[in-house]
Amino acid sequence: MDKLVRLVPYVWQQRGRLLVSVILAVAISLLWAGALLIVFPVVKVMLEGKSLNAYITGELQTVRANVERETTRKQLLESELASQRQAEGLPASTSWSWGGSRPSPKLARMQSDLLDCVSDLNHALGMEWRLSWLQSRVLPHLSPDRFTTLAQLMGLLLLLTGVKCIACYFQETLVSAVVERTMQTLRERLFRSTLKLDHQTLALETTPQLLSRFTFDLHQLAIGLSLLGNKAVIEPMKAATCIICAFGLNWRLTALSFACAPLAVLLFGHLGKTLKRASRRQMESMSRVYRALIEPLQSFPSVLAFRNERLHRRRLAKENQDYYNKAMRIVRIDALSSPSVEFLAMIGVFVGSLPGAYLVLRQETSIWGVQLAEYQMKPSELLMLYTLLAGVLDPARRIASIFSKVKKSSAAAERVFGWMDRTSLLTSARETVPLPRHRESIEFDHVTFCYVAGESGERPPALEDVTLTIPFGATVAVVGGNGSGKSTLASLLPRLFDPQNGYVRIDGVDISRVDPRELRRQIGIVTQDTLLFDTTIEENIRYGFPLATAEQLMDAARRAHVMKLVQQLPDGLQTGVGDRGHRLSGGQRQRVALARAILRDPAILILDEATSAVDAQSEQLIHGALGDLAHGRTTLIVTHAMTSTLLEHISHVLVMDQGRIAAFGPHESVLKTCPAYQRIYDAQIRRRVA
Ligand code: ADP
Ligand code: MG
Repeated sequence: MDKLVRLVPYVWQQRGRLLVSVILAVAISLLWAGALLIVFPVVKVMLEGKSLNAYITGELQTVRANVERETTRKQLLESELASQRQAEGLPASTSWSWGGSRPSPKLARMQSDLLDCVSDLNHALGMEWRLSWLQSRVLPHLSPDRFTTLAQLMGLLLLLTGVKCIACYFQETLVSAVVERTMQTLRERLFRSTLKLDHQTLALETTPQLLSRFTFDLHQLAIGLSLLGNKAVIEPMKAATCIICAFGLNWRLTALSFACAPLAVLLFGHLGKTLKRASRRQMESMSRVYRALIEPLQSFPSVLAFRNERLHRRRLAKENQDYYNKAMRIVRIDALSSPSVEFLAMIGVFVGSLPGAYLVLRQETSIWGVQLAEYQMKPSELLMLYTLLAGVLDPARRIASIFSKVKKSSAAAERVFGWMDRTSLLTSARETVPLPRHRESIEFDHVTFCYVAGESGERPPALEDVTLTIPFGATVAVVGGNGSGKSTLASLLPRLFDPQNGYVRIDGVDISRVDPRELRRQIGIVTQDTLLFDTTIEENIRYGFPLATAEQLMDAARRAHVMKLVQQLPDGLQTGVGDRGHRLSGGQRQRVALARAILRDPAILILDEATSAVDAQSEQLIHGALGDLAHGRTTLIVTHAMTSTLLEHISHVLVMDQGRIAAFGPHESVLKTCPAYQRIYDAQIRRRVA
């Protein structure tokens, strides 16, 4: 299904504006057709040397004569038919029922003659009505002088065009307003559904790729949408007006000129598919350009330090070239569509006009026995037919170019809505259960977790069959080598991921049944690479709990040893931290992040190598404050370095090894039984003591 349909609910919110814009579009096409039809009398006046008055009066006379002739013919036919029916023993009534016995061929022919005659009569009557309307209503306002008539017609043309231009202005602004509003809503919705996703899904789609969805793809979508509201309404209507008028003038020739239409449909079906595929590739390519741009900018110091400017320049050049190729492919398809339609339409004009010219110049109504006109056409009528058919040309070309742009935007819609439809990997329980503040235990029950396979393929499980119960109030040091699964374990608690197997329970409640937002309210987490937002230090701390009082804020800042840092800064707490906190040092950043987590007063505090970059003295101070800090909550401290200060304040040690638990318990007992922990302990503390 075309994803563009998904835009309907968004556009529907703007239905008022949309309705007015459609009305305006209809008015514009009617005005356009009106202007075109004025050409007819102009041609009449100029070419046939008659004044309009004389022309219409003459026509009216002819038509009236026609009406009279057809009326008598009809009466004659009717009476003949009645007698024939009598002769064949049928009831004389003029009922048209064919039931019963089959009529003789002669009777059938007479009946069809009568039908023809009635239709001719109706046609003539309609014409008579129109002409007499013109004579009584329009002619009195027109001057009998040919030049004045022409001038009046030109004036009318000018007026119609003027009104049309004003309508165009309003129509376009209205449509643009609808489009911009739609994009606004769409951007917000897209962001909202992005924020609903889980950490893993988001990690698979890189930031540059996402950014390109939010910018480039949405822009492509907007282009298509604005065309749909604007030209896609007006141009087909213009074409339709011309075609209807042409049919009215001579339906046979017009139908003939549409012989090529199926070819155009086939061609467009094919072009459309190719174009959609090409557009998708173009957008994917654009997101790679974004990546080539954003990645080096995000890690600018590394780029400089490794002197890899050239590498990144080349990477960008490669992606840029790739984008160029993809874009050119679209340009070629695009450029092909408009001329091919124009050419096909011109063939139509040719096929319609050439026989027309033959009929006019040879004074015939049929070619090779095929009747192509009801009566002998006049040159002015042929010219009008030609004008009308040619009038289709321009809209047809535009429709072709709209078509290709709309196809592109449909590819964009696929990407945008495809992302919007992504569902979180977190299992969402049908009924969530409440989670009162944690005060009993945290339990991992045979937990196995494996990161989803990205481009790099399958990975071994990051956690395997982890079973563990942490009592409330414990302060646990989580140790283990790099990649042993410490961070993964900690991430399961705030449900950044859900385990594939097993359960995580807080106070006996399976957390996969708890609303993640409610769960996270109880958890404060500081990770190694915590990033700050580009505001002041105070705002960054408040991010954890915006409603905190100044006292609470100062208290948290003191405990995280932010105050010492703040005292050195000229603006104190109001100092800006720069983009992602990069105006602070790594350790300073971590201290601010720690204050942020403390401010929340979480029931579960997770410090994932949160002090890895803090200087030894401050780290000792922070660890020293742990006794106080850990009071009334469960604390997990992921660390690669055991210090004696930390040892004083922890109640348990958890040793992780390749995704499994190597040991868990109080320091002394783990030290006795776990060789891995002995090594860590030896490396850190014994050496220092020695
Ligand atoms: P650590 O104990 O150093 O904190 P982690 O828990 O971060 O270890 O990682 C455990 C394993 O999971 C590692 O082998 C790592 O490569 C893998 N891993 C970590 N994060 C991801 C991720 N986002 N996607 C895929 N694999 C990951
Ligand atoms: Mg880690």
